Amino acid sequence: MFDFLIVGAGFAGSVLAEQMASQLGKTCLIVERRNHIGGNAYDQYDAAGVLVHKYGPHYFRTNSDRIIQYLSQFTEWREVEYKILSWTHGRYWQFPINLNTFEQLIGRSSTSDEMEAQLAEWRVDIAAPKNSEEVIVSQVGWKLYEMFFKNYTRKQWHRDAKDLDSSVCGRIPIRTNRDDRYLSEKFQALPKNGYTSMFQKMLSHPKIEVRLNTDYREAREHVQFNHLIFTGPIDEYFDHCFGHLPYRSLRFEPESLPQEFFQSAMQVNFPNDHDFTRIVEIKHATGQKLPSTTIVREYPQDFGPGREPYYPIPAPDARALYQKYAERAASEKDVSFVGRLATYRYYNMDQIVGMALAEFDRLRRKEQVLPALYPRSSVV
Ligand code: FAD
Ligand code: UDP
Repeated sequence: MFDFLIVGAGFAGSVLAEQMASQLGKTCLIVERRNHIGGNAYDQYDAAGVLVHKYGPHYFRTNSDRIIQYLSQFTEWREVEYKILSWTHGRYWQFPINLNTFEQLIGRSSTSDEMEAQLAEWRVDIAAPKNSEEVIVSQVGWKLYEMFFKNYTRKQWHRDAKDLDSSVCGRIPIRTNRDDRYLSEKFQALPKNGYTSMFQKMLSHPKIEVRLNTDYREAREHVQFNHLIFTGPIDEYFDHCFGHLPYRSLRFEPESLPQEFFQSAMQVNFPNDHDFTRIVEIKHATGQKLPSTTIVREYPQDFGPGREPYYPIPAPDARALYQKYAERAASEKDVSFVGRLATYRYYNMDQIVGMALAEFDRLRRKEQVLPALYPRSSVV
């Protein structure tokens, strides 16, 4: 008998388990169908001793002091300025678009004023961009959109940018100064000893039990609990009763190389060449000192049997279908749907931590009104 059965040991499930156990003394059983904790943020040392992010690069960043403070209980940080490049038209470009990119384009030095004046000429006048194509062309015009965004987006999502919410491409900053960091949040850092080590600390509480290689379907047959926290795909929870939600999947192709570094940046994007979208060499960011390196090529692929649902698809049609599930979820008693897959949102790690902390607050308040709902179990 557990107070909470938690499905999924990613950020959503782990933060909730940690809070329930440490703040309220609740017993939590986490079931995770993979053979490890950490969800998509899981990292591991490969055969060559290189720390790799198994499910694609995870660049932690946030503007929230509360989230930094919370996670800092379980890790120290290595501050990193995430910098990447884009490869197209036979050369490397500074990316995201900034004054240096503009200078590369015009082949001479320039100024922010000149770049702004040029963008003002190129940009398409759209007051309220409704999709990912509009959000980019309204800032930089067609030429730069076609160089850097159009085909990358098609490759990544198997959809045109105009069929995706503006938030997808809109999350990439466009700057007219020389700030060439990929992201703009004030805190950009990796857990000093990796994500997995951070998760291990978070979950090492006597009231938390983790069962790996265990699916919810199996666990629900024999585990007793008062409240369920579900962080898996919401359509799967409801046996796809309204149809399958669309997801985008990926195939990761790692390659170990007997050299210190393979490329000059931690990530190179390939908008117009190859079937993969990017090559990631995370060692640039982790700062590991080793004579060998590991790169990972990322191939987008359709979601289907045996494949992971990495990305919910931020688009009106997918959201309309999700809405049906969300309405059913709202009437589900004693179940919380938390996380990227359960709320079908293209959220970053810090947003998921925030969502989990908010759900903890909500459940804690509810418990204060209805203490009998969560009787403390003596069995861990
Ligand atoms: P997940 O990490 O997906 O965890 C859910 C867990 O539930 C999984 O481990 C899954 O196996 C388990 N599960 C699902 N169903 C069941 C079931 N039926 N039974 C048992 N277990 C189940 N965010 C950033 O902030 N920065 C980045 O740079 C970044 N890069 C990313 C790159 C890629 C390629 C991807 C895919 C995501 C990236 N993210 C990034 C997003 C980040 O991964 C998510 O925000 C975060 O991991 C979501 O946490 P979660 O707990 O909601 O879900
Ligand atoms: N994008 C693009 N070209 C790039 C990088 C990103 O068109 O060189 C678009 C693409 O649609 C991508 C989105 O911007 O899916 C968000 O990019 P990000 O690197 O944040 O994607 P993630 O790391 O979440 O896969």
